[in-house]
Formats: sequence, C-alpha cells, structure tokens
Amino acid sequence: MKGILVIISAPSGAGKSTIIRQILGNDSNCRFAISHTTRQPRAGEKDGVDYYFVGRDEFQSMVANDRFAEWAVVHSNFYGTSLAEVERLSSQGIDVVFEVDYQGGRALMRRFPDAASIFVLPPSMAEVKRRLTDRGTDDAETIEMRLQNARIEIATAGEYRYIVVNDDLDRAVSQVGDVIRVERLRSINRAAMIRDLVAEKV
Ligand code: 5GP
Repeated sequence: MKGILVIISAPSGAGKSTIIRQILGNDSNCRFAISHTTRQPRAGEKDGVDYYFVGRDEFQSMVANDRFAEWAVVHSNFYGTSLAEVERLSSQGIDVVFEVDYQGGRALMRRFPDAASIFVLPPSMAEVKRRLTDRGTDDAETIEMRLQNARIEIATAGEYRYIVVNDDLDRAVSQVGDVIRVERLRSINRAAMIRDLVAEKV
C-alpha cells in the first residue's frame, strides 16, 4: 500500500512549520519528508530530524547521481528531497508531507501529478515581516531578502490545488487536516483497494 503525497509550500513567516508540526502531531499516519540542505543548522535543529545537513560537495554528488526527486537553491543554499526519503516513507503506506519552496512544489507536482498540493498564505505582508523579525534568527538584510522572496512565492500560489490562509493557527491546521482526509478518499488513492475487491474470491 502506498501513502498519499502532500506538497506544502508557503513563504517564510507564513507559519508553515508550525502548521506542519501540529499536523504530524495529530496524525500518526503522516510523516515529514526530511530534506537535505547545505544551510547551517539553526539553534535546536537536529541532523536527521529537521534536515539532513550536508556539505556542498555531498549535495552536488547527489545531484550528479540523480538522487533527488527535486532540488533547488533557496536563499543561497541548496535544498532537495531525496528519492530514497520518498520511497522510505511511501512504501510503508505512510502519507508523506513535503515542505518545499515553490520551485520544489512545481517540480514535485510535475513528478507526482496525483500528489495533493497546498499553499499556505499569510494574512498580510506586514504579518510576515513581524513573524520574521520576532523569530530573531535573521538580520535586517536577510529579512528584506526573505520578504522579497515571499512575494515571488505568493505569486505562484494559484498553481497549487488548495489554499489555506493562516490568519488563525487552529483553523489553518484543521483545514490542512481536512485536505489530507479528503485526499485519502480520492479514487486514485484507492486503486489497490478496488483491485483487491474485484479479485477477492468469496
Ligand atoms: P528554512 O531554511 O527556513 O528551513 O527553509 C527555507 C525554504 O526552503 C523554505 O521555503 C522551505 O520550504 C524550503 N525547503 C525546505 N526543504 C526543501 C526541499 O527539500 N526542497 C525545496 N525545493 N525547498 C525546500
């Protein structure tokens, strides 16, 4: 049995990580696809939990060996979802949640056309700026760069199957949960069950 694939994108500061953390906490059949990145770990981040933190050489050699379902440069660092990570989770029947930028979202939608895709919109750009500032991990120049990137990301939101606005965290979490529950019911995700019923001898 294969799990469903759920692509989630949002600009930094839209609250996507918090939403995903809650979804994974509420739904034991969902797991996060751990990406590879060349960015330095932030305080509290663990290798093999938040990301697989790797050097540029290792990342480049994975690219050369076709080991990624998608990869992209985001905020001057490399990020990628390995095919091994997708296979590791989906082959166990686990629903895989991808947290990727819009480039990763586009690439995964092309590679996995049946995947669900959700774009999380912030309520306003002022709120994005406030969240990035409050996080206290980035300097003013980086925040400016992330705000500009946020506008570029938001312009692609219409390419996703669903839009969730994060103006209220509980509601946003429940709407993402609704999407996952509904996507599990799609006939395309029930193909194995249909086949088994047709083949069942009674
Ligand atoms: P952060 O450095 O804040 O953890 O993530 C920065 C951006 O990179 C976010 O938009 C996040 O969704 C994106 N990202 C994280 N992992 C991947 C990945 O595997 N592929 C792509 N394309 N983007 C990713």
